[in-house]
Amino acid sequence: MSRLREGDRGQGPGSAGALLRVSGLTVRYGPVVAVRGVSFDVREGEIVTLLGANGAGKSTTLNAIVGLVKPAGGEIRYGPHDLRSMPTEDVVRLGVGLVPERRRLFSALTVAENLRLGARATGGRADLGTRLRRVFDLFPVLERRYRSPTGTLSGGEQQMLAIARALMGRPRVLLLDEPSLGLAPRVVEQLFGLLRALRDQGVTLVLVEQNVAAALELADRGYVLQAGRVVLSGPATELLESREILGAYLGARHGRGIEAARPEVGA
Ligand code: ATP
Repeated sequence: MSRLREGDRGQGPGSAGALLRVSGLTVRYGPVVAVRGVSFDVREGEIVTLLGANGAGKSTTLNAIVGLVKPAGGEIRYGPHDLRSMPTEDVVRLGVGLVPERRRLFSALTVAENLRLGARATGGRADLGTRLRRVFDLFPVLERRYRSPTGTLSGGEQQMLAIARALMGRPRVLLLDEPSLGLAPRVVEQLFGLLRALRDQGVTLVLVEQNVAAALELADRGYVLQAGRVVLSGPATELLESREILGAYLGARHGRGIEAARPEVGA
């Protein structure tokens, strides 16, 4: 029996098992309602992916969780904490990190300086060496480029740095906004391998992706957003197998993307 759910009664483990719980989130930009009552749950250790066409409200949802935009309504619970309207620094200090869309690195600063900035909100000065060791083990290229200006790194290296910078804050939950954007397929493969390694280290991941097939192969569960609402949700394996329904919600471009990546499914 299918465990996919159409509609906006966000499915998940429920409040008892959730580490992060977003309920009825609404965000407006002036007259534009970007997110309309979005609900989803994330358990500790899970990878949850948020999918949707351009403008569906995915980035806005992540930005609201970390306090970069102020919600007009709804709840954001993280363990016992109410994150709604909490300053971003406090959210980061509690263990929620964001890898923003298009990386937002300081390109004139060195790799070292960007990494140190990532540790600042969580008092990283005391154990900076330990934190650096951990990110270098995951991303050896950053150790080799430690003194280089960030602007001289390749796109893939800059994406690794953006993730490493967030990891320097020791997040328990990491929100990633389209990390594969603009990267070559080989680099995307490497990136998804690293995300798997992070999950194996116990980091909970919320992944916004346009690369639907790769995201669903990695994730445990997925939520599909359309025009600011959750329209479909369920286990990632079932979403991947329901490519017709998924394609209808994501639009032709993404629907084709799923078929191209998974020619064997249902063929
Ligand atoms: P994308 O993949 O293009 O980033 P998305 O699913 O992340 O899409 P959002 O960026 O969250 O979608 O945008 C949701 C809606 O909010 C869109 O209609 C967008 O035009 C609008 N929007 C986003 N940011 C702003 C802003 N700063 N001011 C006004 N409207 C905005």
